[in-house]
Amino acid sequence: LKDELKISAENGIHVQLCGRSYYLDPKRTVPGTANFISHAHTDHLPRRSDEKHVIASSETVALANMRLSADLMRTDEEGLSMFEAGHVQGSRMALIERGLSILYTGDFCTRDKLHMRGARPVRTDILIMESTYGRPCYSFPDPIELSAVIRDWCADTLEGGRSVVFNVYPLGKAQEIEYMLSGFPLFCDASVHRHNAILSFPSEVPEMSHAGREPAVFIVSSLKSLSSLPRGLSRPLIAGASGWALDSRSGRTSTLDENFPLSDHCDYSDLLAFVSGCEPSLVLTTHGFSEEFAADIKRELGTEARALKDGTVSLSAHF
Ligand SMILES: [Zn+2]
Ligand SMILES: [Zn+2]
Repeated sequence: LKDELKISAENGIHVQLCGRSYYLDPKRTVPGTANFISHAHTDHLPRRSDEKHVIASSETVALANMRLSADLMRTDEEGLSMFEAGHVQGSRMALIERGLSILYTGDFCTRDKLHMRGARPVRTDILIMESTYGRPCYSFPDPIELSAVIRDWCADTLEGGRSVVFNVYPLGKAQEIEYMLSGFPLFCDASVHRHNAILSFPSEVPEMSHAGREPAVFIVSSLKSLSSLPRGLSRPLIAGASGWALDSRSGRTSTLDENFPLSDHCDYSDLLAFVSGCEPSLVLTTHGFSEEFAADIKRELGTEARALKDGTVSLSAHF
């Protein structure tokens, strides 16, 4: 029994290894087990917390408590270490080392950005990874070069007398845009402001209620916030920033004047390079094109790979 391993997509991802139970991004935290939260995006946070002690960065715990009105607390777990995931502030990957090693990426991004270092590969026996953009058609531009394009576009728009609205996630994308546009007249909505306050980053972006009639850049987490734009402002140009901007068929761009392919995830070649760097003997993929990407890992790298499917045991082994 001691050397048993089981991995299943159940309540997030459930890993049972040598008599210890781990839940990775669980929907509900479970007492008596190790509960790891990779980052504070809603789809990775527990909806119920029967166990208050979680393994996560201090930023993730603070953001989770704000977003869920919860009272989670940080704890440590022997044999579990965390590494920068490069996705949003506070995002971490988890490495479990107990007889053998298992790396769980959560959402991750290996490209260095202006405001954040990318994730680096970690040697592991088993790699559990997200494959959101696991199709060859997804190839993202260099984030530093894209930052310059976004700055230029904003400068031109303001000079032309129009304001800019960025409609983005309040955690991650909002801070990234604010950071790359430092020096511009910037304002944000209440939700973005709450996230900035917890992260103390970036230093100071006032709320929209403080804006005058001069053209400015507004960072909002919902287009509903446009109702609090200052009166007398001419219609602003509305921009998005997402990896899906590359996907013209997605239809997600219809309400936007401009959509920049700025992503907090790996693109296809980043994902493959990460697998190579980790040198795993088995890869389990989750999110997005998980089955297609698992097949590509096998074909391109010769590494055993399969998709983690909901509710089923994807791996059961003795070693
Ligand atoms: Zn995320
Ligand atoms: Zn996610």
